[in-house]
Amino acid sequence: MSGADSLKRMTVLITAGYVLALGLLAGLTIGIHVLLNQAVTELQHAGKVVNVAGAQRMLSQRIYWLTEELAHGTGDLEALESAINRFETSHRSLIYGDLAAGLPPGVSEDLRVYYFEEPHDLDVKVRHYIELARSGLVLGVDSTLVEDMRPMAAADLLESLDAAVQAYENQVSANVSQLQDVQSLSVAAVIIVLTLEAVFIFRPLVGRVRRYAGQLYDLATRDAMTGLLNRRSFMEFANRSERERRRNPFPISMVMFDIDHFKAVNDTYGHATGDEVIVRTASLAEEIGRDADLTARIGGEEFVVLLPHTDLDGARIMAERLRSRIEADMVDAPSGSSTDSIRWTVSLGAVELQDNESIEAGLVRADGLLYEAKNGGRNQVRAA
Ligand code: GH3
Ligand code: MG
Ligand code: MG
Repeated sequence: MSGADSLKRMTVLITAGYVLALGLLAGLTIGIHVLLNQAVTELQHAGKVVNVAGAQRMLSQRIYWLTEELAHGTGDLEALESAINRFETSHRSLIYGDLAAGLPPGVSEDLRVYYFEEPHDLDVKVRHYIELARSGLVLGVDSTLVEDMRPMAAADLLESLDAAVQAYENQVSANVSQLQDVQSLSVAAVIIVLTLEAVFIFRPLVGRVRRYAGQLYDLATRDAMTGLLNRRSFMEFANRSERERRRNPFPISMVMFDIDHFKAVNDTYGHATGDEVIVRTASLAEEIGRDADLTARIGGEEFVVLLPHTDLDGARIMAERLRSRIEADMVDAPSGSSTDSIRWTVSLGAVELQDNESIEAGLVRADGLLYEAKNGGRNQVRAA
């Protein structure tokens, strides 16, 4: 895959990851919003119901007081009528709902028992109470009517209304705690989703980005065929070492080498075998060198090793080891060749950087020594 293709794939992947992660959170947030909204609306309804039910309790008492006052000849007929009307309207709203007043339609299942079942049977009691009070409006109030209404106002109806109000209040507090549960669950869900996203989306994405960045770094700094440093990154690392040496002096040496008569390898066995010889040479150089050494391919079949903390003697020894190791090595010749295996040699130039000598200048000297080694008959080390 080309660099551009994998960059494009990476971009698509990261974008998809972000969209997925944000989409999940957005969906969750909308879901929570809808749920909370619903819960709040229910709570508002319940609050209204508690209000109206509480008012019913007060109206039942007011109707009794007004009737009693009328029996003593001091009452207000209009006030009684309006109290009865309000009592009746509210009763109907509680049972059948009144959307304009913010009351939900229908008595909830929990409260149905208070209105339509023994012992409270509030619907029957309220109707009966209203009937009694209205008869006073039509036929006039006397002490018998007051006597009839008193036990209801003082105990029976009042107790049932109280029970209903209590039940409404219980329902509201149940709704409130439900709302709190929904809220806690929502927070937990958001935290869980964020954690899962971190683990399953962002962590793998970061891993991919890091691997991809590593690949790009290798592509930029290493030679693809041998895996050795390329010339540019060799110069960067070598110059860094050289700057370090200026602050805190230590010896630095370099060994430059070139495959002998390599053109003949290509010409005799083909380019692929030539490549194989280059790769093999590179891996032998890395094998001989120490971990701190920097090995680079700086030309077609030309290499250099930077040896930090190594003086000229050390460099000469390393170069000689590499020379003899390569001389003793071989690769298989391609089938159909006149020989089974191919042997080759390298010529090497070794230098120790002098005080204030730059890497560039050291390389020029090493190249000169390498040239001398070639002229001296190849397969040899020249050091100075
Ligand atoms: P000398 O001993 O003087 O170094 O002779 P030489 O034949 O090795 O030198 P020359 O520089 O004339 O030839 C180098 C050859 O290496 C020429 C070039 O085609 C070949 N070459 C350069 N890069 C590669 C590569 O990556 N693969 C292969 N197979 N050949 C390469
Ligand atoms: Mg050569
Ligand atoms: Mg060459």
